[in-house]
Amino acid sequence: MATAISVSSIFSTHSPKLSALPTLSLYIHIPWCVKKCPYCDFNSHEIGKKGSSLLEDEYVSALIRDLEMALPQIWGRPVTSVFLGGGTPSLLSAQAVDKLLTHVRMLLPLELSAEITLEANPGTFEAQKFADFRAAGINRLSIGIQSFNPRHLQALGRIHGDKEAHHAIEIALKNFDNVNLDLMYALPDQTLEEASHDIALACASGVPHISAYHLTLEPNTLFYRFPPSLPDDDLAAEMQLMIEQTVSSWGYANYEISAFAKPNYQSCHNLNYWQFGDYLGIGAGAHSKISFQHKIIRQMRYKQPKQYLAKLLTKDSVGDPIQSEHEIQAEDRVFEFMMNALRLTSGFQVDSLQARTGMPITTIQQQLEEAEQRNLISWDHYRIMPTLTGRRFLNDLLQIFLKCKE
Ligand code: SF4
Repeated sequence: MATAISVSSIFSTHSPKLSALPTLSLYIHIPWCVKKCPYCDFNSHEIGKKGSSLLEDEYVSALIRDLEMALPQIWGRPVTSVFLGGGTPSLLSAQAVDKLLTHVRMLLPLELSAEITLEANPGTFEAQKFADFRAAGINRLSIGIQSFNPRHLQALGRIHGDKEAHHAIEIALKNFDNVNLDLMYALPDQTLEEASHDIALACASGVPHISAYHLTLEPNTLFYRFPPSLPDDDLAAEMQLMIEQTVSSWGYANYEISAFAKPNYQSCHNLNYWQFGDYLGIGAGAHSKISFQHKIIRQMRYKQPKQYLAKLLTKDSVGDPIQSEHEIQAEDRVFEFMMNALRLTSGFQVDSLQARTGMPITTIQQQLEEAEQRNLISWDHYRIMPTLTGRRFLNDLLQIFLKCKE
């Protein structure tokens, strides 16, 4: 390979240019939940608490206004996927989702085959409503099951029990063929057998996609302040291994650290994040990453639903819903790219680094060599992939690329 060049020296003289803009997806945030879960650090607000209420009509109008105002930044770019996340988007009526998606189609060149996902809480499932979501254009459901064990669901503060979990999957599969189940492991006082039972039930349900996340204690959550008794690292690692082996025996491929899919059911929307694609995020607290030829920006919209609504719907107002915006500096681009792309089992194509960041692969030659020597990646002229060790010790692998910023 050519001699390594330091990133800072390359970009001190000129701004890196992108030869083409990446794939663009749309994220729509719905910021309300029936009840706040004690482990959750998402921008979700409990209905009825501190005057928070589901203001469906106003919020849908604000989202449409938000999208209209964002159009100049993404003008003419095709949108390959839409994701309604939260919060609990399944609290919306099917009519509201229909209105929203109708405007999305009118305002954006949404590809005919676009994946359109709605996140649903098993505590909000009604058969007719989900048939109507399907008719409105939703073609993928992501259900927050978390566990099938009543004791663990209670410990997690979920509003559903095991019966609702099974019922939700049954209704989902009647209306959708593309369904994801979100599960969590390393739950309070969970045993390996209990985790194994959860994952076996998820696989046996017949859904084509499963996401399994390690429960972590995030700052600003109730669990962080009052930590429950959690499995130790060794047991959590055993659970992770058991999950990987179980889903593999059921025919799911582990294409990303926490994501498992049957053939042709990988999540297009999430793949776009991991491939360092662009996304426009609308709604309270939504994040965006948008590329231009000479810069890449990140934005965040106002987090509090009331503040977000006030910015967009105050009489005569054309307020800006964007609370903060910054450019991703050249020296940060590689690390951010790596942080996403190395989550994927198949890694990334060598030329995609330059396409997405404007930086030649030679700028990270030293880091790649170090990672290879430590058996954390393998690579040829086309692809760079994390090894099994690299996936297990992803933080160690990423530390190597943190040096790109120095
Ligand atoms: S339902 Fe989901 S978004 Fe809402 S509080 Fe619980 S974990 Fe957070």
